[in-house]
Amino acid sequence: MDLLRALNRRKVLDCIRDAGSIARIEIAELTGASPATVSVITAELLRDGLIEAEEQVVPVNSVRRGRPKTLLRLRAEAAYAIGLKISLHQISVSLTDFLGDVLASHIAAVQTNRRPPEVVAAFCEAQIDEVIRKSGVPREKISGVGIGISGFVSYPDGVVRWSPMFGSRNVPFKQLMEQRLGLPVAVDNDSNLVGLAEKWFGQGRYHRTFLVVTVEHGVGMAIILDRHLFRGTHGFAGEFGHIKVQPQGALCRCGQRGCLEAYVADYAIVREAATFYDPTALDDPIAVHETLDKLKLRADSGETVAQDIFARAGAVLGVGVANAVNIFDPPVIIISGERTRSAQVFFDAMRQSLQEHVIGNSDTLPRIEVHQWGDVLWARGAAALVLEEFTPGGPASLEAETDMRSEVATIIAAEAAS
Ligand SMILES: [Zn+2]
Repeated sequence: MDLLRALNRRKVLDCIRDAGSIARIEIAELTGASPATVSVITAELLRDGLIEAEEQVVPVNSVRRGRPKTLLRLRAEAAYAIGLKISLHQISVSLTDFLGDVLASHIAAVQTNRRPPEVVAAFCEAQIDEVIRKSGVPREKISGVGIGISGFVSYPDGVVRWSPMFGSRNVPFKQLMEQRLGLPVAVDNDSNLVGLAEKWFGQGRYHRTFLVVTVEHGVGMAIILDRHLFRGTHGFAGEFGHIKVQPQGALCRCGQRGCLEAYVADYAIVREAATFYDPTALDDPIAVHETLDKLKLRADSGETVAQDIFARAGAVLGVGVANAVNIFDPPVIIISGERTRSAQVFFDAMRQSLQEHVIGNSDTLPRIEVHQWGDVLWARGAAALVLEEFTPGGPASLEAETDMRSEVATIIAAEAAS
């Protein structure tokens, strides 16, 4: 498939996905492609079974005349995808159709903290088998598996450079899982998958550019620029939790000091709490949750030490968010993750600190939205990754983009040499 056609095909498919159902002429208007090009591409997509046509019902009392428009929509059964999220205390897995609707999901309580990668891979495989069994979808109809994991993940090679889940560094987790499953696998940073979930299913549908900040056992970010998830050169873009807020400051799980995460993440809040309250909770992810819930109750009931712990964390997060606003100037920032259940004082302190540290005025501040996503929805984002990468609209355009990049690189090199 040539470059332009592959890119147009992807553009049209994305346009139909964003709209739900849409007429050809509107696709042409939205994508800037000519009506003739849209006709050719949609004919191909219909032939390949990726989309289907529905007759628009014109109300009897409608003043509109003429033929009813044919609307196009994605065909739910065109492809199936599995998304999986690995957390410290559980593995969540969802199986979705081509629309991203969840057909089956499954959560298993598993301690993944610093386990050997082979052990985590075996856990994942068992949960994937379980969700396939639950859904009744034949295995050969599954396009691929998307896996979200916190830490530094090289993309697209799926090597986990560092993650709190694994006892070792540089784990070729994509390869490991593909060997086990015999299915294409994509591994990405879990915050990126929340970004994709927001872009496909959440508030992100209404914005071309936005940031997602995830706060739970770690702190992460997804950067969506002009409808495109920005990963950087190696896949490490948006490592928001590891931006430095205090040189030589608090120790982070990544081994460096002064990272934002070392003040804001669950473990950092529990570390503070353990200094004053019960110091037993630090190494057990389930105890971490219990400690945070208790601390929140204390803060909400007005206990000043507990309030101060959340306020300090919120203020540091506000500094980080202000830095992100100063770089990206987004219209919206979505805050997501477990900490969205945090004490009110956490968010008050964050907003206050954001206002203090952002350039520009209060009327140019982005809207801050707080979304409480469950792990199944993160897994849905992982399934969205598969639908982007492995379905017929996906790989062709990705290859085309890569081809285009190498072509441009060749031209630049040739010009430099002459
Ligand atoms: Zn760090």
